[in-house]
This record gives sequence, C-alpha cells and structure tokens, in this order.
Amino acid sequence: MENTSTDLKPGPALGESTSVDPAVSTAWARARAGLRNEFGDEAFRSWINPLTLEAVHGGTAILSIRSRFLRDWVSANFAQRIISHFNAEHSGVVTIDLVVNTGADGETLTEAPRFTVPKEEADTSVGAPLDPRYTFDSFVVGKTNELACAAAQRVADSESIQFNPLFIHGGVGLGKTHLMHAIAWRIRRRTPLRQVAYLSAEKFMHEFIRALRFKKTEAFKEQFRSVDVLMVDDVQFMADKGATQEEFFHTFNALIDERRQIVVSADKSPSDLAGIEERLISRFNWGLVADVHPTTYELRLSILQSKAAEIGSRIPDKVLEFIAHKIQSNVRELEGALNRMAAHASLIGRAVTIEMATEVLKDALRANERHITIDEIQRRVCEHFNIKMLDMSSARRARVVARPRQVAMYLAKMLTSRSLPEIGRKFGNRDHTTVMHAVRKIEELRAIDSSINEDVEILIRALRS
Ligand code: ADP
Ligand code: MG
Repeated sequence: MENTSTDLKPGPALGESTSVDPAVSTAWARARAGLRNEFGDEAFRSWINPLTLEAVHGGTAILSIRSRFLRDWVSANFAQRIISHFNAEHSGVVTIDLVVNTGADGETLTEAPRFTVPKEEADTSVGAPLDPRYTFDSFVVGKTNELACAAAQRVADSESIQFNPLFIHGGVGLGKTHLMHAIAWRIRRRTPLRQVAYLSAEKFMHEFIRALRFKKTEAFKEQFRSVDVLMVDDVQFMADKGATQEEFFHTFNALIDERRQIVVSADKSPSDLAGIEERLISRFNWGLVADVHPTTYELRLSILQSKAAEIGSRIPDKVLEFIAHKIQSNVRELEGALNRMAAHASLIGRAVTIEMATEVLKDALRANERHITIDEIQRRVCEHFNIKMLDMSSARRARVVARPRQVAMYLAKMLTSRSLPEIGRKFGNRDHTTVMHAVRKIEELRAIDSSINEDVEILIRALRS
C-alpha cells in the first residue's frame, strides 16, 4: 500500500516528514476559527473541522477530507469562503486543492477541485481581518459595559438604522475593539451580503495617504462609500491630521446620507477628543455615544472564570478572586495574568495557590499596586457598613447611608487621583462641593470620633492590601 501522504501530491517536499510551515499552520488555525464564526458551530463541526492541511506548495494549500461525499459538499458550499479566509490570514496562500484521503488509498490528486481567491478579494479588500476570538459570545457583560454591549448588539442585529453613528469610548483594554469585531462577525453571519469594513483610524490614514501618492483618491473614496457598515477603531489617532479628517468627514457624510451604518471608537468621549475638528465631533455626537467604564471586581472575576473555562485551565476560585482583586488596570492585563498562571499551572502540574500567584505575577501586581478605583472603594465601604451599592449613588439622606457615602467620597479623594467633579459623578452625579463637604466632614470626625476613625483605618488597610 502506498503512503497516502506522498500519494497526495508528487513532490520533493512530501513524505512522512512533511511539515507545514508554522506560519501557514497558524494562519490555517485562524482561518478555521474565522470560518467557525461565519458558519456556526454545527456547520463547522460537520464540514470544516474534518479538513486536514496536508501540505503547501507555492501558493497552493492542499486540504484533505476523508470521503468524496464530504469533499463535494465542501466544494459546493464552503470552498470559496475557505480560500478567502485562508488568504486573509496568509497572503501567500492563494489557492486550495481539495483532495480525498480515505486513509486507505488516497484518491488521485488530478481530480482535486481547485479554488482560487477571487481577484478583488486578494489584498485590495477594504479593512483589516477580524479576530475570531472577539465575538459577543466571548464578551462578558457587567454593569460597566452593558450599555456599550447592548448598543453594539442592536447595531449588529437590526438592518434598519437605529442610531448613527454608534460611538464607543473608554480606556485602553476595556473591550472596544472586541465589541467592534463582534458586530462585524454577527453581521457577516446574519446577512452575508452586507459589506462590512472594519479598520483602525491609522490604517484609514495610511490608505488615504497612499491613495494620494498614487493618485488613486477616487478609487479610495469609492471603496469606502460602497460599504454597508463602516467601523473605524481608535479615531483619536486622527488627531491633528487635517487632510485625513477632512476625507473621513466626507466619507462619513456620504455614508450617513445613504443610510449606511457607521461605528466609531475612541479613548475619549467626542467632546473630550483633542485635535479633532469641531464638525467631526458634532457628527460623532449625532448618534449614540456609549462608554465602557473601568471594570468592577465582579466583572473581572467573571471574565477570569469565563476565560479560565475557555482555555480549560483549573485554577482555584480563590486564586481567580485574588487576581481579580489585584489586577484592576484593564482586561488585557487580566488576561495576561491568567495566561501566565495557566502556563505555570500546567508546567508544575500542581494545584495553584495564592502564594504561587503572588510569585508568578510579581511584576503585574507591583504595577497595579496602589491603583485603587472608586468602584473598589464603594464596594468595600458598602461591605463594611453593610449597605447596598445603590446607596452610594442614591439620594437617600438617612445617616446610616449618608455617613458611609461620605466616608467613601473621602477615601476616593485620599486614595485615588480623581478630581472632585469626577468623584461626584461616581456618586450619583453629585456636585463637587458635596464631595468637598464630605471630605472635610470625615476629616473632622476622624479627629473626634474614634469609632469612625477606626472604620476609616480598617478600610484604608483593606484597600491598600
Ligand atoms: P480596547 O480596544 O478597548 O483597548 P480590547 O477590545 O482590545 O480593548 O480588549 C482587550 C482584551 O480584553 C481583549 O483580548 C478582549 O477580548 C478582552 N476583553 C475586554 N473586555 C472584555 C469582556 N467584557 N469580556 C471578555 N473579554 C474582554
Ligand atoms: Mg482597541
């Protein structure tokens, strides 16, 4: 019996020792993930998963599948998308051959149907590839991001325009890009005919400058104005780039006129963006402005639990709680910490402990030290005085809630770098003078009331630990 693998394609590189270039294998893995997103789990399991990447010659990837029936079905229904995904992940792969490999005696290769990436898709497509991990399914929703997530879902699920643009803003690593990709994936899945373009503001700028240089601005305009949904990430990068902003402004207006959907993200709210022209800012404010706030402890913990489950890592809850408690800066760092713990756990093959986490995450912990958030302060204060989080922002004036609220404002002033107005906002949009009053009051009380002083000291110690 012949070796099936050599039988697939006569060529010097094939044989038992054939191995695909790791970069191509990785691209194939990402393409598979992208296909799974596009077609759903069930179709993926039946039709895409059975494909094996056997070899790559020149620009042709050889994919095998175990029966002629499967091969024909995949050819008819998925092959064109397979090559598009593969090519998007690795521009060196432009063709796929679908061969049958029954495992006994591989069929002849000459019959293999061949699929080539369509010309217009090969490297001239608008936008950047999407990360297959960034879907709504993998996005953990909490108080701090529920508005942005609901708005993103609304945009993805409705074909009529609900608000235009959707402007998502918030600090780094809080899920803006994740939400934008999730919108794109869902629209592609639900309505494959609608053209969705996602790209960073930087890429928009580079493409525009290139178009200018090669006198292709008409083509540039055309490609953006023909999309149904345009998403531009991190528009703060357009700051002080006059010509790019001008072009974006016109693109923006043209699309809005045509009732196409626009989604924009930035690290600040429209009004706080520096270096962006007034007229663009006022356009950004037309639709829905949704922000993602810094995470709460609860959200961090559920993100950790969900990611730990995803990577199949068994890290005890106690340790996850410890990480959620200590790493507060953003979700990207949280993920990094979890991955390091998971890698460590799998290497030593022993149950992970908090002591171990302290050691493994030393640097990340140090970087997050003293970074106390107002949410954290409020949570602690509520626990300590046994009141509800709601009471931090409620208008209730009863002493049992008013005093703890003042303590929390005082601690926010003491332990964070937030300004009085910012603190006021976090406490049910109170005025900065209310915060100032609270700070003075608690200072006064600490000097004369030892039980209050003790409460405050316990809280400070807990928050700093
Ligand atoms: P941003 O664009 O706001 O800087 P990203 O969208 O790149 O942030 O998010 C950083 C990382 O954190 C990504 O890996 C993302 O998947 C993850 N992440 C952020 N928020 C969430 C969330 N709510 N649930 C799950 N993962 C999240
Ligand atoms: Mg981003």
